[in-house]
Amino acid sequence: MLQRMSFTISGIYSLSVLTKIKLIYIDEEVRILASGLNLGTLTESDKNQFLPLFNNVRMIEGVCHHIEHIKTYNNNTKTIHVIFSEANHEHLKYIAAGMVQHRQQQEAELKSQAEEKRILEESRLRRKQEEKEQRIKEIKERNKNHLQMMLNNKRNPIGSSNNLLEIFLPKQVPQSHRLTHCFDCKRELDSHHDIKCTSCRWLLCPCGACGCTYKLMY
Ligand SMILES: [Zn+2]
Ligand SMILES: [Zn+2]
Repeated sequence: MLQRMSFTISGIYSLSVLTKIKLIYIDEEVRILASGLNLGTLTESDKNQFLPLFNNVRMIEGVCHHIEHIKTYNNNTKTIHVIFSEANHEHLKYIAAGMVQHRQQQEAELKSQAEEKRILEESRLRRKQEEKEQRIKEIKERNKNHLQMMLNNKRNPIGSSNNLLEIFLPKQVPQSHRLTHCFDCKRELDSHHDIKCTSCRWLLCPCGACGCTYKLMY
């Protein structure tokens, strides 16, 4: 019968998977031997779990199939997972190797799933960013055209038939003087000279920035 058991040893001992482990019950203690090296004795709580295995025998043999390194600020231990059986060592080694391979496959699968998720998320974010940049570009273009139109308009004599200022913008109510700067290009803006965006009511910068692009950028 196969028994999967685990116990803890001090972190200073080095041990690898598929190593043969011997536990010897002697003088009320269980000694741990791995590849002929003495790895100390089982802790009191580990020992109690193992005692039923030493039913009529003084020694049990197993193969290590997994090692967990546990590091805390004042302690450094390893939890050793071992399969024990009365079957021969080669047989156990074969089973343990299967378990190791299975675990490695699972780990590789999890890793590739995580990688796939990361790539999808990255491309989603990139697409979103591109859409945002495109939108900002469109608004700035629209604002610059609007500014150009206003400028052309100023050059035309007042009252001429193509005075777009009068057509598109009803007389603006005088407002208090406002001095500020563009959040985007840092140019100074002045409510006496710069016009407002018709949708966000911010002063329109010659670079095309206004509250509409601000909202998208921040
Ligand atoms: Zn600007
Ligand atoms: Zn705007």
